[in-house]
Amino acid sequence: MKKVLILEDEASIRSFIYINLKRAGYDVLEADTGEKALRLIAENPDIKVSILDIMLPDIDGFEVCRTIRANNTTMGIIMLTARSQEMDKVTGLMTGADDYVTKPFSPAELVARIDALYRRIGDTREENPNELVSGPFILNTKNRTLTKNGERVRITNVEYTIMKMFIENPDKALSREEILSCVWGKDYFGELKVVDVNIRRLRIKIEDDTTNPTYITTVWGYGYKWSA
Ligand code: CA
Repeated sequence: MKKVLILEDEASIRSFIYINLKRAGYDVLEADTGEKALRLIAENPDIKVSILDIMLPDIDGFEVCRTIRANNTTMGIIMLTARSQEMDKVTGLMTGADDYVTKPFSPAELVARIDALYRRIGDTREENPNELVSGPFILNTKNRTLTKNGERVRITNVEYTIMKMFIENPDKALSREEILSCVWGKDYFGELKVVDVNIRRLRIKIEDDTTNPTYITTVWGYGYKWSA
């Protein structure tokens, strides 16, 4: 689903945008402070477009825009400006925003802008073909690295291969035999237990709470399942 973030501290405007984007088929995340917006973006690398209000209680929308741009050049960014903030348009575009919408705006106008930005991103900013994204995780298949919420997780080659198999098969129960032959090869003579040992180690590295794993869950008597 197409994921969009709204950063707006005024609850009435935010819910107005939220309702209209939901109706237009978007998956919408909401933030009322710059800090929260940046956290949601780190946790959801699949957000493609952000709508940023400028006047906020903590860090202003320009600062949020600059911070996003510092490590994300592909996200579409739309600034929300008040009519009196004519200069904001210029500054907003200079800090790396793609478009701006002036308050008050019609829902149709905003949705049209977002749709247009989405199309443009799809045309010119192909998703990085080397990156597999799943929840807060990005697995880079070119340099074989894993990040969670933008932070590097150090994994071994075997763990990398397991992660790749999981992310390519979301919500699918994979048998231990399948995992063994995918990761260690069909001619591997070892025991199935090697799968469990590696899953246990991987959980320590990626789960929020190892005693209650949510990304790699156990399918009793069968194997494991990935959900993010
Ligand atoms: Ca505001």
